[in-house]
Amino acid sequence: MEKLTQEELAKALNGLPVGEIHCFDAIGSTNDFGFERAAAGAPDMTVITAFEQTKGRGRMQRRWITVPGASVPMTVIIRPTETEMEHLNLFSPLTGLALHEALQEYRNIKSEIKWPNDVLLNRRKIAGILCETQWEGGKLNALILGVGANLYHGSAPEISDITYPASSVEDETGTIIPQTEWIRVFLTQLIRLRPQLGSPAFFERWEKALAYKGETVRLVRPDGSSELSKVTGIAPDGSLITVDGAGERKTWLAGEISLRSKE
Ligand code: ATP
Repeated sequence: MEKLTQEELAKALNGLPVGEIHCFDAIGSTNDFGFERAAAGAPDMTVITAFEQTKGRGRMQRRWITVPGASVPMTVIIRPTETEMEHLNLFSPLTGLALHEALQEYRNIKSEIKWPNDVLLNRRKIAGILCETQWEGGKLNALILGVGANLYHGSAPEISDITYPASSVEDETGTIIPQTEWIRVFLTQLIRLRPQLGSPAFFERWEKALAYKGETVRLVRPDGSSELSKVTGIAPDGSLITVDGAGERKTWLAGEISLRSKE
């Protein structure tokens, strides 16, 4: 993957309703820069990307590894509308859905979404999402949506704390999606799906893409304790619904649980 220039990115996004466009050779974290720009007043749909990201973050203090030239980091600043404010926790799955539909749209690539939002190809993680909030005087100022996409061979990190099998779009499908097209198709889907946030159509799409539906999985708590339960669907608040071996229905909140395959 070649280093992208700001001009090339701006050209690729021409016609899309985006805010500022920032493209770096190297950056600590695109989300950190997103926080800076949001505090400085950058508009809705401001887009930030980089060739190299040295301090990518995941959920719960985990690291997100960006292999330069193989994995694409991106951040989008969202200024939620009044209606969207009621569904802030759904922006993260919305982003997963936009990635899922971008792959489908681009080359009919069938991905799945590991609840709440990781995108899988052949049960390997090819993208991670980190949705953060910026508050100002008790009021939400912006959502900082971080997306790391493993597009090409070599993206899957060789690290000891890997929590789930990782791969790339190229490794799993043989398809090489040019970086500019990837960013464009993803943003197009994000813009298209945003008005559906929290609607029955949104949950329908999410459930349709849900990995492990009908399968028994291991749900792991932050303290390492875990239990097996069968995935049945998603509740209207975005929780995962499962049924355990004794037939008891359970709901799980994102952030409190990690989903693993049964093994
Ligand atoms: P969980 O799977 O427990 O729900 P998570 O997948 O939501 O956690 P993220 O915040 O999305 O966690 O990503 C951080 C985790 O992803 C890291 O702990 C590491 O295991 C893994 N990881 C880091 N970089 C990559 C990468 N480029 N591709 C795939 N996985 C990665």
